[in-house]
Amino acid sequence: MHRPPLGPAEIVVDLAAIRANARLLRQTAGVPLIAVVKADGYGHGMVESARAALEGGAEWLATATIEEALALRAAGVEGPLLCWITTQHSDHRAAADAGIDVSAYSVEELDAIAAALEGRAEPARIQLKVDTGLSRGGAPRAAWAEVFARARAGEEAGLWRVTGIWSHFACADEPAHVANDRQEQAFRDALALADQAGLRPELRHLANSAAAILRPSSRFDAVRCGIAMYGLDPAPGEATEIGLVPAMTVRAPLVMVKELSAGDSVSYGHLWTADSPTTVGLVPVGYGEGIPRHAFRRDAPEAAAQVGIDGKRRPIRGTVCMDQVVVDLGGDHPPVGSDVIVFGPPAAGGPSAQDWAEACGTINYEIVTRIGGRMTRRYVDGDATEPIR
Ligand SMILES: *Cc1c(COP(=O)(O)O)cnc(C)c1O
Repeated sequence: MHRPPLGPAEIVVDLAAIRANARLLRQTAGVPLIAVVKADGYGHGMVESARAALEGGAEWLATATIEEALALRAAGVEGPLLCWITTQHSDHRAAADAGIDVSAYSVEELDAIAAALEGRAEPARIQLKVDTGLSRGGAPRAAWAEVFARARAGEEAGLWRVTGIWSHFACADEPAHVANDRQEQAFRDALALADQAGLRPELRHLANSAAAILRPSSRFDAVRCGIAMYGLDPAPGEATEIGLVPAMTVRAPLVMVKELSAGDSVSYGHLWTADSPTTVGLVPVGYGEGIPRHAFRRDAPEAAAQVGIDGKRRPIRGTVCMDQVVVDLGGDHPPVGSDVIVFGPPAAGGPSAQDWAEACGTINYEIVTRIGGRMTRRYVDGDATEPIR
């Protein structure tokens, strides 16, 4: 099979969908929405997603790293902004000057922030993250008292104001999991201890998308939503239906159609063989665009991911390559140049990111966040229910 030049495969992001999703989440939660735009807005574009979320009623933005938060400011995005990943090399002074809330996990980190802030007139904004059972970032329970005491001392010295205390769930997508109750109780313990230490944070927050929808008791003063704002289900199989619309469509042109005879094998390793005559089509996206190579597996060829062409599902046949995939057209001859919907909202007429996640043994978060490579991103701002053409 010869290699045609790559066509204009693209990621189409519907900003109206992000706005509408933010509005729905804000209404559902009934408390301020912290819109999470880390990792380039889960692949949707950080700055554009942030603006759409704010237009939809989000009061806060959040990123993982200080650098992402500074990039938002450099793009002119204003308003309350939280980040939670820092390193020894993080520029705490720049974050403070940009009015960014930085999360701190330990006394050592608070000491380093204090040193970076020396001589600054205005108090910086610090949020404290407590580990309530995820065992990832955040102060472990044994350190809460000393972290709160150090944070309070910094307030008294005029270095910073502790604007928030927060934590993060491990199992919010499994609402019946025992860890949820335990973590919420631990969070309440941390808040009581912080209060005893004299801290009066304005923002206590625990819930991600799944908890914001499924666990009202965890909403506190704000919810931090990422995946649901992009319209994807944070807890597939649970009662999360609030009318979210997926904002991302990945589309590419069909670049070639050819006939196969029974016995012809397809792509590297010849992992799929036609058992009867058929037609196949070439789609110019591969793992260079973030299409998971797992989308076709030797051990489960019938579970392969599919694309949509003319409203029909067309399964991937054979190994996903760097630049392209081959799909089964089942004897049909759609014209070269036909629109191939790799995934998108139902109205786009192809599979969903969730379908891809299931075919690839992953979660919808990974499908949209890893998508990119050579694809261009185009923003539309239409009725989110209209097909994207
Ligand atoms: C990514 C992230 C979120 C958002 O989670 P979703 O499940 O996408 O809503 C919230 N809080 C923290 C700490 C995160 O890392």
